[in-house]
Amino acid sequence: MSEFIIKTTVLVCDDDKSHLFIMQQMLESNDYIVELAEDGMIALERFRLNIPDIILLDVNMPNLDGFGVCEAIRNQSHGKDIPILMITGADDHESIAKAFECGATDFLAKPINWSMIPHRIKYMLKNRDNLLSLKNSQERLKNLAYFDSLTGLPNRQLFEEKSTSLFEISKRTNTFFAVAIFNLDNFKRINECLGYIKGDELIQHIANKFSANVRKYDVVTRNQTLDLSKNIARIGGDEFSLVMPNLKTEFDAINLCRRIAHSIATPIKLKDYEVVITASVGIAVFPSSGKDLNLLMKNADIALHNARAKGPGNYEVYEHDNRIRVDNPLKFEQCMRNALKTKEFEIYFQPKVGIHSGIINGSEALLRWDSKELGTIPPTEFIPIAEENGLIIELGDFVLNKVCESLQIINKTLQHKKTSISVNVSGQQFCQDDYIDRVKRIIANSSIDPCQITLEITESFMMDKVQASIEKLKDLKILGVKLSIDDFGTGYSSLSYLKSFPVDELKIDRSFIINIAKDQKDVGIVRSVLGLANSLSLETVVEGVETHQQIEKLTELSTEQEINIQGYYFYKPMPFDDFLSVINQPSSLVRFLIK
Ligand code: C2E
Ligand code: CA
Ligand code: CA
Repeated sequence: MSEFIIKTTVLVCDDDKSHLFIMQQMLESNDYIVELAEDGMIALERFRLNIPDIILLDVNMPNLDGFGVCEAIRNQSHGKDIPILMITGADDHESIAKAFECGATDFLAKPINWSMIPHRIKYMLKNRDNLLSLKNSQERLKNLAYFDSLTGLPNRQLFEEKSTSLFEISKRTNTFFAVAIFNLDNFKRINECLGYIKGDELIQHIANKFSANVRKYDVVTRNQTLDLSKNIARIGGDEFSLVMPNLKTEFDAINLCRRIAHSIATPIKLKDYEVVITASVGIAVFPSSGKDLNLLMKNADIALHNARAKGPGNYEVYEHDNRIRVDNPLKFEQCMRNALKTKEFEIYFQPKVGIHSGIINGSEALLRWDSKELGTIPPTEFIPIAEENGLIIELGDFVLNKVCESLQIINKTLQHKKTSISVNVSGQQFCQDDYIDRVKRIIANSSIDPCQITLEITESFMMDKVQASIEKLKDLKILGVKLSIDDFGTGYSSLSYLKSFPVDELKIDRSFIINIAKDQKDVGIVRSVLGLANSLSLETVVEGVETHQQIEKLTELSTEQEINIQGYYFYKPMPFDDFLSVINQPSSLVRFLIK
């Protein structure tokens, strides 16, 4: 059998033909393949056609000199590691320095000792091989440090590094960010019964299921497809994690995790066996489950622990820990009082959009508390406590003042147009003897038109205090503000009372909307509330609309009338500056309706 030897190719570039000739003789007699170039341009052309193993370059040549050739080769991806030997004049220190600057590997000064050239080439090639093998082992080490060898997925180290940058992007873009940890239930049992080889095989199958499920993930709320396949990691023997940036709602994360868990639970064929394994999942979502990545990872772990306690195949989303509130209500109250002084409370704005016109018809002001000490606390948690300890009065005034201030700024930027902002009013506020005076004073202190404020009062509160409510609502109407019944449908309104309430708007509660695309009962309820609002000439807002299917159904139900949509489908609540730019967008069909 003949042995196949790969010969080394040397590209020699020199404008002195006698040098080229000698070089060729010398190298060919040492078994090298030689390519010759008589000037720099030819050398580059030869390099392009056939990449050599090593290049010998004369410095001084007409047109393109040796430095130019060397630089041009180094700038090409194939030319980075090729050894280049530059031939310089004797004692020409300047050229030697410049040769190295241009990327030469070594130099040879004239007069040339021809017999030494083959040795020099051999030495340079050996150096190149050493360098390449060092690079390869560095690459392998990097792979070992960052990837799991069984599945090829990123390991915990890479996962954490990657999550950090994705987390920062989500924070900047004000989108939801979630981490999930999946633990295979009773995986130990598989290893014990079928052995480690089958166990490893199973892990590989599961890794593939992960990748397949997240490669094309349709975010329903944005009609968008995300590829999250680079965001999965194997972080332990039977533990995988997934980071989900850029989500529009928390439900995106939950839906995706459920889909993965469902797919993991389908039977896996392992040669002679069919195995069914389930996964428990712990999910933590920014900002509600924690404000930094470490805390989110920790909380996803706690959620996983709770999910496993419920039994195999369950998932759990970490809810903000309210132990302080339960264990130490005084401390919670103290934090809340300080928060009012230290300006930790902020107002977010969520636009309402006309379903047929696509026009922004006002917005709702929603309170946010980002506590330095306790983390982000949702209003559903702190408002009831503020109602218990009386702080709601001060908080309510704060919100109304802020909204009036914001409206003054908006009025200036929008000039002739006017928009309205809805403010939530708690029962305790409404019951204060001086409530009407407070509202009057705050509005009078600003230059806004009272009809730019809509006060939202929940249906259940109004029903509780029917008679007193009607009188007070009438007084508020005299001030010129608009009135809205919030969470409509949950408070058992009697139709006869509804007729006598001097209100302008009904807000249909989110609980009737969640399943409206599939549940005929919800369709019936919403249809009759829309009919009722229409016959009483009330404006209608539908809350909590998140999906395209919900919008389609609501469009179908509202052919006779314009209804306003408030939900993540269009906008999440946002800080004032973002809100201002949304309503100032000249391209969007924005009109401001005040009837
Ligand atoms: P609400 O008055 O019913 O406000 C609507 C809630 O639904 C807001 O929750 C809003 O962020 C949320 N939401 C809007 N669109 C969607 C959606 O598409 N999907 C889902 N899942 N939720 C959506 P938020 O801001 O957490 O407020 C919760 C409640 O806290 C409010 O319910 C209101 O009762 C109370 N609240 C908020 N701000 C204030 C305030 O300034 N004063 C008083 N008294 N209560 C407030
Ligand atoms: Ca409301
Ligand atoms: Ca509501």
